[in-house]
Amino acid sequence: MYNSSAAFSSSNTQYKNRLFVYEVEGLSQNSVNTQVPIRSSGTVFITVPYNRMNQEMRRINSLGGKVISIKPAGGDLPEQNSQPAPQQQAASNNKKSMTQAKPKKEKKKVPVNTYRPKNPFVGKCTEIYDLVDEGGIGTCRHMTFDLSSGDPQLEYIEGQSIGIVPPGKDEKGKPHKLRLYSIASTRHGDNLEDKTVSLCVRKLEYKDPETGDHVEGVCSTFLCNLNPGDDVAITGPVGKEMLLPDDEDANVIMIATGTGIAPFRAYLWRMFLEGDKNPDYNYTGKSWLFFGIPKTENILYKDQLEEMVSKNDNFRMDYAISREQKNSEGGRMYIQHRIAEHADELWEMMQNPKTHTYICGLKGMEGGIDEALSAAAAKHDVDWTEYRKAMKKQHRWHVETY
Ligand SMILES: Cc1cc2nc3c(=O)[nH]c(=O)nc-3n(C[C@H](O)[C@H](O)[C@H](O)COP(=O)(O)OP(=O)(O)OC[C@H]3O[C@@H](n4cnc5c(N)ncnc54)[C@H](O)[C@@H]3O)c2cc1C
Repeated sequence: MYNSSAAFSSSNTQYKNRLFVYEVEGLSQNSVNTQVPIRSSGTVFITVPYNRMNQEMRRINSLGGKVISIKPAGGDLPEQNSQPAPQQQAASNNKKSMTQAKPKKEKKKVPVNTYRPKNPFVGKCTEIYDLVDEGGIGTCRHMTFDLSSGDPQLEYIEGQSIGIVPPGKDEKGKPHKLRLYSIASTRHGDNLEDKTVSLCVRKLEYKDPETGDHVEGVCSTFLCNLNPGDDVAITGPVGKEMLLPDDEDANVIMIATGTGIAPFRAYLWRMFLEGDKNPDYNYTGKSWLFFGIPKTENILYKDQLEEMVSKNDNFRMDYAISREQKNSEGGRMYIQHRIAEHADELWEMMQNPKTHTYICGLKGMEGGIDEALSAAAAKHDVDWTEYRKAMKKQHRWHVETY
């Protein structure tokens, strides 16, 4: 049983600014403020700032709940790969003897840099199609490359990126440097044969601020102009920041702008579409996608995403369509406004150590998201920056912006 004197002793002045997580049993869903989810084990996790620990303990007691463990938020939360605390271990050992323990699943090693820029793999484009409907802004294409002739074959897992080395030379006469692209397919590839990789690429186009010339990005233009049969120099895979947790019951919050949808397409296809192909992964958590785009015609993978929402109760999606929807102040609806609308619910979800948050897309989108979540955290006297750092330490906060 948890020894409360340890957490409350006066020698703990070092904890002043810290957050703690109570694991509580005996609360009903109605008695927990707002929507902290009651887990199947019957316990609930509540984050409490140091200066409110006594008060929260009294509140829990008055609701008939019992605190069964207290841990600092910041590394010690029960995680998928962490060792349980001794008292939890004892409890779980008891449980295991009553029920059949699940067989241990084989964990796939994360492949990294199978191919490097000096010796890239040259794969053929097998398919390329438009993702922006008529009337939308800009060009964005989905493209697939055949990996089957690789020796070794380039393998990857959801959340990784590959490098593309565009042909030709830069203005200094040197070969172009590689550009990274988030992988938009699952490890099985779009045709489920484990031999392709797909990307979602926006063609970079802008007006040179000095000359006023129309400029097209080197690599994104090369990729968007590909035809099936064309060769592409590929490196990687790289990246461990955006990997999905192994837990099938993890909750996954995804916040994307534009092509930031790419890794989330891979996650969602793995969670909801591939079924039999993933006997080791039967997703049962809750996932929630926030997707920021300028116009309806720019909703990448729209039909498939909406079909997935309609078929899966545990997948929810909210768009922020900046040029069509208005925020509460009458301005354009950007992703941070949509997050602000749901900030309390997101905050409560994040209290659960099984909730992971992923942000991908435009550089600079984090600021508005932080602002929205700060307001929700402040209602609980929690400093959002500290909380976010704790989540990062627990590998529950993942950002890839560019
Ligand atoms: C981890 C990671 C994942 C990525 N995933 C994707 C993805 O899934 N899909 C995708 O489309 N992209 C993705 N990118 C971006 C991609 O790597 C390239 O940066 C992008 O395609 C542009 O490359 P380019 O060669 O076309 O442009 P370049 O020819 O390299 O031109 C880019 C340069 O143009 C200049 N520039 C750009 N915009 C402006 C402007 N408005 N005004 C003035 N100058 C400007 C800047 O100097 C910039 O560095 C990702 C990047 C990273 C780091």
